[in-house]
Amino acid sequence: MVDDTPHILPPSGNAVDKCGVVIDVTGTKAPTAPAAPALTNADRCDRCGAQARVRVVLTKGELLFCAHHARTYEAKLRDTAVQWVDETSALQAPTL
Ligand SMILES: [Zn+2]
Repeated sequence: MVDDTPHILPPSGNAVDKCGVVIDVTGTKAPTAPAAPALTNADRCDRCGAQARVRVVLTKGELLFCAHHARTYEAKLRDTAVQWVDETSALQAPTL
């Protein structure tokens, strides 16, 4: 079963009505964002269901696209994407 719902992270940081109170403190938080996991055969394009080749991480979730739809939406999404993981080069390796 394909989970096509965006993974939305819960808000963290200061409590809205408790100025100055930090509610999410972890001493192990990495200084940089974790790398998105590599795409697998189970990852499917959110538009057509073909094997996903591009992962687009947005502030409110992520999208997966096949190479075709990645090109279709790249112009719209590039500016807002937090991370653009293009694995279309994997397509260039024929296994004859
Ligand atoms: Zn597609």
